[in-house]
Amino acid sequence: MTYIAKDKQYIWHPFTQTKTAGLPLCIVRGKGAHLYDAQGKSYLDLISSWWCNLHGHSHPEIAQAIYQQASTLEHVMFAGFTHKPAVILVEKLSNYLPAGLSRFFFSDNGSTAVEAAVKIAYQYWQNKQEPRQLFLCFEGGYHGDTFGAMAVGNSHYHHPFKKLCFPVQTIPFPQTWENDPQVEAKETIALTALKTYLQTHGKETAAFIAEPLLQGASGMRVCRVEFLQKLVDLLKDAGVLVIFDEVMTGFYRTGSFFAFEQIAREPDILCLSKGLTGGFLPLALTVVQQTIYEAFLDDSIEKAFLHGHTYTANPLGCAAAIASLNLLTQSSTLNKINNLCLWQQKLLGELSQNVKNVERPRTLGTMAAFDLKTHNPELMQSLQTTLLKEGVLIRPLGKTIYLLPPYCLEEADLIRAYKILEHQIRV
Ligand SMILES: *Cc1c(COP(=O)(O)O)cnc(C)c1O
Repeated sequence: MTYIAKDKQYIWHPFTQTKTAGLPLCIVRGKGAHLYDAQGKSYLDLISSWWCNLHGHSHPEIAQAIYQQASTLEHVMFAGFTHKPAVILVEKLSNYLPAGLSRFFFSDNGSTAVEAAVKIAYQYWQNKQEPRQLFLCFEGGYHGDTFGAMAVGNSHYHHPFKKLCFPVQTIPFPQTWENDPQVEAKETIALTALKTYLQTHGKETAAFIAEPLLQGASGMRVCRVEFLQKLVDLLKDAGVLVIFDEVMTGFYRTGSFFAFEQIAREPDILCLSKGLTGGFLPLALTVVQQTIYEAFLDDSIEKAFLHGHTYTANPLGCAAAIASLNLLTQSSTLNKINNLCLWQQKLLGELSQNVKNVERPRTLGTMAAFDLKTHNPELMQSLQTTLLKEGVLIRPLGKTIYLLPPYCLEEADLIRAYKILEHQIRV
């Protein structure tokens, strides 16, 4: 209790109304898909600790890689210097990327990856002497909490700051789910809105930014591959840069290594973070097409991208990321991912059959989500608390309950979690 009491005295927690929130849980260790408190009680981490953990907590191979790197070189500034872990990491990652997406800009987290992407897109057009002022995004997008990321996002969290953000245009996001009869109508509305927008503003638009296939923070909202293909084709025809924010969807979350592979369309700029280090350390990458990079090359410094952070390309983060990528190439990991995708489909299918209160069931790769027909904020909060008591960690988003576990999760644990969930959401 002492740490919790001291926490209450000193600490300001993220996304929390401390006045009404309960006390935080003090976690002392993690192993596999489980977290443990001081009493040894376990909690099944069904949200991968905010969508970043891939292989389980305190994975020994990643821990060892960080230790070895820390005892060799903990950090060096990245302007005028480089190091092996950074180079090895991007070389490994480039195996998963199309040939053109070949320049890697490091930063610290998802928000900074997006800030860099937005600034690069904006300066790119200036450097080409064809300045474009506008950004386009989806309704319900989330790209982080710094100012540029807030501007291109659509979260109610950002309400107090919206007047300070640069204006952006939005188009509808045709959210869909299993057996959704309206899907094509919704897609037509979105594509028509895009066409109308591009006719008047296409030439003024620097970039479009989106979370491909799966909007995370706005409630695990899924759209179809066919829709995104049409959308990207229209944007590319209009010469608008496409930024894919794969901060959450990267590293097999949606079943493929990157979500954009399913669309078979390349982004001009790609943002990565969260799972990049397997969930061990904050690190991010903004990957750009070679042609964009080349627009920053000049004899004068003005055309350079004068942007960076103290911990850019931190070697410890890079070492963790290399170890995580090594695990991702193992066939045993790929088997786990494939199994998890199948279990999620099967178990969510059963749940939505068994419980009338479940609507809009949707799965995408390792992610499963549904909405509750009858819900309110108090109910969702008490559901979360009850499940925590039962040793299951979820974090509903509005009316949406989702399960996004680490890939090491055992089938029996997932079955048990669905059983507990089913019991609690019956009305
Ligand atoms: C979490 C998230 C971000 C922000 O990442 P942080 O590391 O929290 O700054 C950006 N984009 C997407 C899609 C995310 O899910």
